[in-house]
Amino acid sequence: MTERMVLQNVKLVNKEKIDIVINDGRLIEITAPGHGIGEQVINLSGHYVSSGWIDLHVHAFPEFDPYGDEIDEIGIKQGVTTIVDAGSCGADRIADLVGNGKESKTNLLAFLNISKIGLQRVDELSNLDWIDREKVIQAVQQYPDEIVGLKARVSRSVVGGNGIEPLHIAEQLSKDTSLPLMVHIGSAPPKIEEVLALLKEGDVMTHYLNGKTNNLFDEKGAPLPEFLEAIQRGIHLDVGHGTASFSFQIAEAAKRYDIGLDTISTDIYRGNRVNGPVFSMANVLSKFLYLGYSLEEVIAAVTNHAARWLKKPELGRIQVGDSANLTIFTVQNKPIELVDSEGEKRTSDKRIETKGVVVNGEFIEC
Ligand SMILES: [Zn+2]
Repeated sequence: MTERMVLQNVKLVNKEKIDIVINDGRLIEITAPGHGIGEQVINLSGHYVSSGWIDLHVHAFPEFDPYGDEIDEIGIKQGVTTIVDAGSCGADRIADLVGNGKESKTNLLAFLNISKIGLQRVDELSNLDWIDREKVIQAVQQYPDEIVGLKARVSRSVVGGNGIEPLHIAEQLSKDTSLPLMVHIGSAPPKIEEVLALLKEGDVMTHYLNGKTNNLFDEKGAPLPEFLEAIQRGIHLDVGHGTASFSFQIAEAAKRYDIGLDTISTDIYRGNRVNGPVFSMANVLSKFLYLGYSLEEVIAAVTNHAARWLKKPELGRIQVGDSANLTIFTVQNKPIELVDSEGEKRTSDKRIETKGVVVNGEFIEC
């Protein structure tokens, strides 16, 4: 008989207090605070619990530089139980990424870069010979449990002289594989209007709060009509903070215009984890608390919204019978200086801090 673990007196984001009982990796009971019974009791008074955080945009292939990192450094150590690698690898190296994932505690999913070389170079779509349709299809068939979509980075420094052409090819590959696309946006060419015109329902646009000249808002801070049309069509908006892609001014404009908050992701890798401006998932989430989103909205953007897009609802809920996949955190009333990708600073009077995760039935402190 295995030990039962009780997470005692823990709060849901709606402030309801509960005990959670875990046995053999599964959540076996949710009961009133103080009523959970087990051999290992962890008192978590004052702490929140949510389903395990999901980061939809990370770089988890440590061999690649600059866009690489160790899986558990950007996963469980950040309070994130599921990471989705955003196209670090193409068909050439996806097997190695998946293999690394199996040796890690963090759950790993991936977008497959349509360029077979992935981020071995950072201009991976500047030569169209690097897009090998057969290899893409083979990789998708080989890793149906891990590959959740295709990735195309469509901005000047990546596509070189190819403009919008890589996105046309990406949309065709998306049809051929029945997988959605994650499209990274940034500097022109191609112009953002050209990119928006091609995105379809279910595609993820990452970096939508970037403050570069080719961004999604006009000079007065109003969302472009093409952007609003794409939202109407059902594209999914993903933050993908990164080194260069999150602007407080743009995020404030998005909030003013009630642009929905779908998923908050970090675009984390060694450089922006150690030196900022990303630092951690908790730091990025604290920025959205600062912007005026409620704790429920912020946590939904790393739990059930992401799980819904992934079509894995079990990853975004706390339910008896499910595998125990949880994040435990606090909201501290301690001031923090937050910095965006433009170097702009804001001081917030509260911050999110991670305490630990439960992954595969094991409690791990952050
Ligand atoms: Zn990225």
